[in-house]
Amino acid sequence: MTQRNEKSLTIIGAGLAGALLATLMARQGWQVAVYEKRGDPRVKGYEGGRSINLALAERGRHALRQANADDAVMAQAVMMRGRMVHSLDGRTQLQRYGRDDSEVIWSVHRGDLNITLLNLAEQAGASLCFHRRLDDVDFDAGVARFVDDRDDGHHDIGFESLIGADGAGSSLRAAMMRNTDLGERTDFLDHSYKELEIPPAADGDFMIEPNALHIWPRGHYMCIALPNDEKTFTVTLFLPNHGDPGFDSIRSGDDAMALFQRDFADAVPLIPRLRSDWESNPPGLLATLYLDRWHIDSRAVLLGDAAHAMVPFHGQGMNCAFEDCVALANHLLAGTDRAQAFAAFERQRQPDARAIQHMALENYLEMRDKVDNPDFLLQRELERSLQERHPGRFIPHYTMVSFMRIPYSLALQRSEIQREILVESTRGLSSLHQVDWQATDARVRERLSPLADGA
Ligand SMILES: Cc1cc2nc3c(=O)[nH]c(=O)nc-3n(C[C@H](O)[C@H](O)[C@H](O)COP(=O)(O)OP(=O)(O)OC[C@H]3O[C@@H](n4cnc5c(N)ncnc54)[C@H](O)[C@@H]3O)c2cc1C
Repeated sequence: MTQRNEKSLTIIGAGLAGALLATLMARQGWQVAVYEKRGDPRVKGYEGGRSINLALAERGRHALRQANADDAVMAQAVMMRGRMVHSLDGRTQLQRYGRDDSEVIWSVHRGDLNITLLNLAEQAGASLCFHRRLDDVDFDAGVARFVDDRDDGHHDIGFESLIGADGAGSSLRAAMMRNTDLGERTDFLDHSYKELEIPPAADGDFMIEPNALHIWPRGHYMCIALPNDEKTFTVTLFLPNHGDPGFDSIRSGDDAMALFQRDFADAVPLIPRLRSDWESNPPGLLATLYLDRWHIDSRAVLLGDAAHAMVPFHGQGMNCAFEDCVALANHLLAGTDRAQAFAAFERQRQPDARAIQHMALENYLEMRDKVDNPDFLLQRELERSLQERHPGRFIPHYTMVSFMRIPYSLALQRSEIQREILVESTRGLSSLHQVDWQATDARVRERLSPLADGA
């Protein structure tokens, strides 16, 4: 049994959020124990997650800076300046995410990032317990039951508060639901994903432009590739579950090869193990998880994917989970009653989680269907001009989400107004020269107040 202590936390899950929160709290002198169902990745080698690399943006980097983890993580990160769009005819075009190299996102290796954060948590004084899968919780007695899946052994641990950082399939959430109705709803997307790999070139270098997130948009489906610092790319194909093409019709490696030859021809020579990877990697499901409540008084609270899993199309799930960690740490360190801290955390973060979940769903349509559409490209051009004409007032959607730390809910609200302005001002036009600047500027001034970032 762990000792009961006013400043003690029991974190379930030593993934990305669990390890970061443990570091933030242990640094402040809290007694932190983290229980993880898998083995220690530093000993066994990383067993893999749902995606091999992740896009890290400003929100995530800011949280890493709070834990002094940014330098170690950035040492292995690969810069992505924008989207490299691959057309059906093989032409490519780089669409920058920001104004220059100060506005970029970074590709980081999930396993390496996890290991960096685990080391920092341990150095900060957190205790890490692997092979401990949360199985059940007696909230009245304050006892959590863990199972070691190697021998089915049971371990009962006393707790003051449980923090659920155990991901989308959270066992803590399931245990909380047995105690209290959290108002859970999961919306599965009718699309899934499959991971493939582009290896290094024969000379050991990257096969394609490394400093970009590659996209092959094809209407109802798409392929993307993110660089890894070992000169490979992780390729992810997103496809409907049913239809042509769909996961139900593309079954074998040969079917996959035929699809790639037809729709992603320039990628075929880059993925030599396409057939075998297709057959050995199972498709991953995609879903959005909504909960009305994230906590039970002072005894348990959820964060990260356990509270608000989202589809990956804005590359913000981890970034949002890291923001959660900083927010929860701040509420706990403010010295209020634990139940109040959990309630304040939920009040602060729930509207923002809902907003980024919504924007992530919207972004799928943008990535797979719009990035090569002339109307969309003209709107992007106008967006950049309006940013220059109205600095601090008209700020591109992607910039607000990825390079700033304003609440996601505010970014969503302003993005919706901006989208209306962009659509109205370019309707029926084919070039920026045709824009009615007077009317457009007036719309911007009327509908958008200047924004103070505070970031
Ligand atoms: C295909 C794909 C691509 C993505 N790309 C991006 C991206 O580019 N950028 C981005 O920001 N986000 C991205 N995400 C989202 C990101 O992966 C998640 O938001 C992030 O991993 C959430 O972190 P977490 O710590 O909450 O959960 P996880 O990272 O899932 O960690 C949960 C941990 O809890 C452990 N655990 C689970 N159950 C138990 C239990 N019963 N007992 C003990 N331990 C348990 C797990 O083993 C794991 O270590 C992507 C997701 C997917 C699916």
